[in-house]
Amino acid sequence: MTLAMSMMMSSSLWAQTQVIHAGELLNVPGKAPLKKQTVVVKDGKILSVNKGFLPANKFGDDATLIDLSKSFVMPGLMDMHVHLQGELGPNNDKELVKMSDADIAIRSAYFAKTTLMAGFTTVRDLLNQSEQIYALRDGIAKGYVDGPRVIAAAGVSVTGGHLDVDGMAPDLLTIKTPPTLCDGPYECRKVTRLAIKYGADAIKVASTGGVLSDTNTGTGQQMADDELKEIVDAAHVLGRKVASHAHAAEGINAALRAGVDSVEHASYANEESIKLFKQSGAYLVPTLLAGDTVVNLAKTSNFMSAPIKAKAIRVGADMLANFKRSYDAGVKIAFGTDSGVSKHGTNAQEAVLMHNAGMKNADILKSATVNAADLAGMSHQLGTIETGKFADIIATDGSPLSDIKELLDVDFVMKGGKVYKQ
Ligand SMILES: [Zn+2]
Repeated sequence: MTLAMSMMMSSSLWAQTQVIHAGELLNVPGKAPLKKQTVVVKDGKILSVNKGFLPANKFGDDATLIDLSKSFVMPGLMDMHVHLQGELGPNNDKELVKMSDADIAIRSAYFAKTTLMAGFTTVRDLLNQSEQIYALRDGIAKGYVDGPRVIAAAGVSVTGGHLDVDGMAPDLLTIKTPPTLCDGPYECRKVTRLAIKYGADAIKVASTGGVLSDTNTGTGQQMADDELKEIVDAAHVLGRKVASHAHAAEGINAALRAGVDSVEHASYANEESIKLFKQSGAYLVPTLLAGDTVVNLAKTSNFMSAPIKAKAIRVGADMLANFKRSYDAGVKIAFGTDSGVSKHGTNAQEAVLMHNAGMKNADILKSATVNAADLAGMSHQLGTIETGKFADIIATDGSPLSDIKELLDVDFVMKGGKVYKQ
């Protein structure tokens, strides 16, 4: 079969009307679920949500029935922090010099499919090799490969900062240096605009050091206030959101003052941070799974360097412990895992960690749908099962509102009206 033929076949399948009988339907996370509903999908979008189980033929002779009458049905999950091109492990150093860009791109397609099959229909990729991640994003959108919708960010960092390369021989560092490093406000404005020119949907900045940088730079503020401000302003003028990686309080607060749309990790958020979060309306993306994973890896394996190990054990644990304070204070939370630190496809473990930290199940589901869609600026298309939105729909046997672990075993996945798992 030619590619064109298979594309035609798959698009005609999507065009068919599908009628879903949902035993329990959480059409708008944050509100109470409804019993016995019929969701009608046409041309990849939600046509209507109706009371009771209506017969498929009521919606046309070619309409097909999808029986989820014994399942819990909700919008597809959204992960606002993934890295689809890698997976943390003992071979990372070898992979960095042995894998070609093409190898990395092909493997990312595999990680993307694994993520989709786990029920995540949209992800925001916060930094990778840009050209490859844009190709993956566009290939998925065109139906060439199976994966979640990808919002692809470019990463902007200061020279020697968290998103720069490290831990290699100097000549290798020269080859691998990312094109989006900047020092000083004007350079930062320039690289932000360049990143958008080449295809970035969003900008990620490293306002502080990171756990996995192989240096003794710690996790304090790295990017100056004027650099942060220039990046945020340049991105916003061109219609792009900005996510800031940040651990130490002064870096979190500097990013929030500069006007970022989300802070990732926020391990040491203090009273001032909470005040700034609430003033600005920025989201906190907790990535508890990354904290949990690096603590475990530091304790049970030997591939991390000494400074990384020490940071992993300290910062990972603090990230988990400090999350609850921001949640209780009413900071807006959007779901994000930092997958790639953890294994792709285990994204829903984040929900279990959020639950264990004291977050309500209803709020967790909202963070991975309604809130994530809002953070992505896509509330008009994603996050709920309502007329006109993309038919991104998942189902589980039991209700994750009563047992959050139901999310670990998603039985049905539809994205844009196409069924990927049943
Ligand atoms: Zn990350």
